[in-house]
Amino acid sequence: MSPSQNDRVDVALVGAGVISTTLSVMLRELQPDWSQLIIERQDIPASESSDPWNNAGTGHSALCELNYTPEVNGKVDITKAVNINEKFQVSRQFWSYLVE
Ligand SMILES: Cc1cc2nc3c(=O)[nH]c(=O)nc-3n(C[C@H](O)[C@H](O)[C@H](O)COP(=O)(O)OP(=O)(O)OC[C@H]3O[C@@H](n4cnc5c(N)ncnc54)[C@H](O)[C@@H]3O)c2cc1C
Repeated sequence: MSPSQNDRVDVALVGAGVISTTLSVMLRELQPDWSQLIIERQDIPASESSDPWNNAGTGHSALCELNYTPEVNGKVDITKAVNINEKFQVSRQFWSYLVE
């Protein structure tokens, strides 16, 4: 049974965009006995930035963001791009796992 807003819950997530809902699924995998409440002010989930009509719809790898590769002392620093790209690949693995 889904908890209501007056119940005590183990986890309360504010917003039903891709971030909160992904965290909710991860927590469900790790702690299936924890109760969760997701609070969303809109009528439907993922209707703000996570709605494909409200973002560029590309799915970010760090390769396409110039601010991830700043020029420092005349050299392009790719540390941030590599770090974010690795996290993006982990995210893709997790989403693939969910599809299966
Ligand atoms: C113009 C634009 C282009 C983008 N392009 C890309 C792209 O090409 N590739 C990419 O990977 N990412 C892109 N992004 C980024 C990506 O869309 C966001 O990082 C991602 O959707 C954020 O998800 P979120 O769950 O944090 O936020 P959201 O999807 O915005 O979810 C937050 C939710 O919280 C709810 N909320 C807020 N406050 C409250 C409250 N007080 N009570 C209850 N509910 C509340 C909102 O209604 C909303 O549903 C883009 C973003 C923008 C704005």
